[in-house]
Amino acid sequence: MENFFKRKDPPPGAPAGGPNPKTACTSSTSPSSSSAPRWSTHHDALLARTEAACAPCAKIAAFDLDDTLQKTRSGQKGYMVTDVNDFVDWSADVAPTLRRLHATGYKIVIFSNQGGVKGAMTGKRADVVRRRIDAFARAAGVPLQAFCATQKGVDKDPRSYRKPGAGMWKLATSAAFNGGVEVNVAECFFVGDAAGRAGDFSASDKEFAAGAGVRFMTPEEAFNAPGCAPAGPGDGGGREDGEGAAEDANTKMESAVCAKEGGEGVIVIDDDDDEVDKKMASLRDDTP
Ligand SMILES: [Mg+2]
Repeated sequence: MENFFKRKDPPPGAPAGGPNPKTACTSSTSPSSSSAPRWSTHHDALLARTEAACAPCAKIAAFDLDDTLQKTRSGQKGYMVTDVNDFVDWSADVAPTLRRLHATGYKIVIFSNQGGVKGAMTGKRADVVRRRIDAFARAAGVPLQAFCATQKGVDKDPRSYRKPGAGMWKLATSAAFNGGVEVNVAECFFVGDAAGRAGDFSASDKEFAAGAGVRFMTPEEAFNAPGCAPAGPGDGGGREDGEGAAEDANTKMESAVCAKEGGEGVIVIDDDDDEVDKKMASLRDDTP
């Protein structure tokens, strides 16, 4: 099974991943111009993050956090880790992909269950979550919003923030966090590792996407998996160190192909067009 993002490289001389002012939700966003993030708590069951550069947007590229955008060096579960330095990107393709999505008009949003925070909304666990996500955003170089459900059960989580509940999606797309702009669910998607595959701990991410009414992809479908060799000449393979170097600037289509069971998805992002040429092949659902 092939899984891949296909995208055209930026025009020669263009900064890798730089925002296209004609399509980006933010017109003046750069890593250095992002303002300080703002964190808030909601109903004692949710930590939410936004920043001024996250403009209201009809297109949302949404991601789970643990084992999707990030993994741990130590191999520990993310909710058990208190050392922020233990978190690393899930693959070298994560940050370049987020930058490309942002540059082509998507708002980047994280939806994560962080049950380890429990009731200590202002305690050590909450602080780890905030510092971890702030550091990730700075390193990725994109503005982003994040919603972290911290409670479980009807009594403690009456708004169903915890995935697979749709409460976080409802809040993220509300006027409070999207400025009254109606989201076009047909152009939104959610990436998560809890897909109900053999070995997955649950299908909560897949069910969350279904509840939100958006397409679902696994990390393997969205990113070059760790250790997955890129295919094709001039393909940077999503490597940070491959961008703009040792690759043919005229190579228009990057095709990182990774054999993977579970589904097939294709997104074409054409940086040359005013409008994003985005085609999502039908995701063949063959998961249990
Ligand atoms: Mg996860």
